[in-house]
Amino acid sequence: MKKICIFIAVGFVLLFISGCMGMKQQTEGNQQAVKEEKGQAKETKQTQQKEAAELDKQKWIQQKEPVALPILMYHSLSSGNSLRVPKSEFAAHMKWLIDNGYVTLSPEEAYQVLMTNSTPSEKFVLITFDDGYSDNYTKAFPILKQYGMKATIFMIEQSIGRPNHLTDDQMDEMIANRLSIESHTIHHLELNRLSKKQQEEELKGSKAFFDQRFSQRTRMVSYPVGRYNEDTLKLAKEAGYQMAVTTEPGHAKKEQGMMSLHRLRISPGLSPESFGRLIEGN
Ligand SMILES: [Zn+2]
Repeated sequence: MKKICIFIAVGFVLLFISGCMGMKQQTEGNQQAVKEEKGQAKETKQTQQKEAAELDKQKWIQQKEPVALPILMYHSLSSGNSLRVPKSEFAAHMKWLIDNGYVTLSPEEAYQVLMTNSTPSEKFVLITFDDGYSDNYTKAFPILKQYGMKATIFMIEQSIGRPNHLTDDQMDEMIANRLSIESHTIHHLELNRLSKKQQEEELKGSKAFFDQRFSQRTRMVSYPVGRYNEDTLKLAKEAGYQMAVTTEPGHAKKEQGMMSLHRLRISPGLSPESFGRLIEGN
């Protein structure tokens, strides 16, 4: 009799547990269905929430003086011309930033820094690469990943997957690891030489492409070869970018205009000390 009682009791417990699990699975299934129904709108909302959580605005420091944001400009990590920086030098620069307590920003954070004049730390930097060379993935990405640093690559839409340029898979992997892909237009043409209509196509078209390709809000554009004119400034804003960067030297400040922010060109041969002076002087 005692044995039967135990048997029945165990049976009830098992039934109860399996019932609970079934309910849980069903709930998860429903949630999945709802998620799929809401589609992209939901994903965008989740991305925004994630970004907001990561920023933790409560701890940001309101600055008294106008913020001067160092936006570093790299291209290829190799050697051969004044735009190419060897990997070993890049590694030394990144180490200098870490050793000196710098926080790396995403484009969204950089925008908040300039618009609210508050910062997540006393030391902050936006690292950028123009043109989307393959070595950004093979050489820069492992170093950035090792330190958990954020960086932004300005990709030319038509260069994706071309020889010596980033592939779709490489960009996806980098985005999953704190890097951002922003626009360097469709064809990398000097915008100041184009008609208004052509400029509009390059700016709007590439933004629509990157928005869709990465299910993101593309926030930044880097003007090819740093060339732009009055129309460019207006069209970039109308296209929906929050910030545009040039090759004019110096720290980025809101007063320059959000569509014509300056950058610090990182040339080859820069020692970590000179690199540090470039960033700390404004
Ligand atoms: Zn370029």
